Amino acid sequence: MSEVTNKVLRPGTHSTGPGQAQPATTSKPAASASPWTRQNPFPGKLVVNRRLSSDDSKKDTRHFEIDLTGWGLNFEPGDSVAVYPTNDPNLVKEIIRALGTTGDETVPAAKTTKPFREALLRDYSITQPTPKFLKAIAERASAAPMLKELLRPDRKHDLENYLWGAEVIDFLLEHPSVKFRPEEFVGLLTKLQPRLYSVASSLRVFPDQVHLIVDVVRYESRGRARQGVASSFLAERADKAPVPVYPSSAKHFHMPEDQTLPLIMIGPGTGIAPLRLGTFHTQRLSDAIGLRVVARSSTQNIRSTQDAGKRR
Ligand SMILES: Cc1cc2nc3c(=O)[nH]c(=O)nc-3n(C[C@H](O)[C@H](O)[C@H](O)COP(=O)(O)OP(=O)(O)OC[C@H]3O[C@@H](n4cnc5c(N)ncnc54)[C@H](O)[C@@H]3O)c2cc1C
Repeated sequence: MSEVTNKVLRPGTHSTGPGQAQPATTSKPAASASPWTRQNPFPGKLVVNRRLSSDDSKKDTRHFEIDLTGWGLNFEPGDSVAVYPTNDPNLVKEIIRALGTTGDETVPAAKTTKPFREALLRDYSITQPTPKFLKAIAERASAAPMLKELLRPDRKHDLENYLWGAEVIDFLLEHPSVKFRPEEFVGLLTKLQPRLYSVASSLRVFPDQVHLIVDVVRYESRGRARQGVASSFLAERADKAPVPVYPSSAKHFHMPEDQTLPLIMIGPGTGIAPLRLGTFHTQRLSDAIGLRVVARSSTQNIRSTQDAGKRR
């Protein structure tokens, strides 16, 4: 573990909004000879997936532990880890069915070619409709005059409202006469992006693991149950496959170099991950290394903050 920087911890600089990893904000980690890169992330193994929210809570906040044995990379308190999810296979099946294809067709993906099914699962974002996709629907569907109207530059705000909670599959099901060839369809999508999660453990205490605290995104819109791509991947599908991860440095969110300085750690929203990490890292709290969270709103239903922070 390299030395911490002299930047002061500023909890809460992450959001639970779209946390897709932006290449520009990620920096090269300190490892020298590691074969892992952002394009070739380390295949982590999910070893713990524990619900922290109480049973009666509508929220589903979870504690994950990912085994990193052999990764040879590094992170510091305040950093995040990019998780590279795969899409929900049921949604993939539904899209294939709606398009009337088999899924075996060959399409371009990740600088090579793959079966359509595989590309939808791993390479393309299949939830949020892109402007290209909407335009293609509006051009082909005579039943979509409203969409055509909303795509006018002066109706941007109305389009945003109309699209809130709408996904690609909704348009395919609403306009069954519109068919795309698989190759054409993937050309209307964007690349599936990794999502960032604040690290909630210290390599000083868990040298071969990263812990994350994740609020699983689930909601209903247009009569359908929806789920966030990465948070549901971790919660529901990651025990069956590797969890590709790569560290992402937070330049302005680190512990003070002088570890005797008093710290006040404030975590809004679900942002308790950096606090848990900070506690481990400095080992300022003696035995249990638990967190006492003065909870409001989203954190108030955490079943046991001691549990969330306990060292095994
Ligand atoms: C630096 C950083 C650190 C982060 N750390 C953490 C962390 O420690 N823990 C954590 O939980 N998250 C964290 N995040 C957020 C995280 O990266 C993801 O954005 C989050 O988990 C959602 O990703 P997803 O793939 O599950 O959801 P997505 O598939 O990206 O879906 C989210 C989208 O769903 C839509 N949506 C959500 N709710 C509704 C609704 N009710 N109605 C209609 N549409 C809706 C919105 O368009 C929203 O943007 C962090 C983000 C950043 C940038």
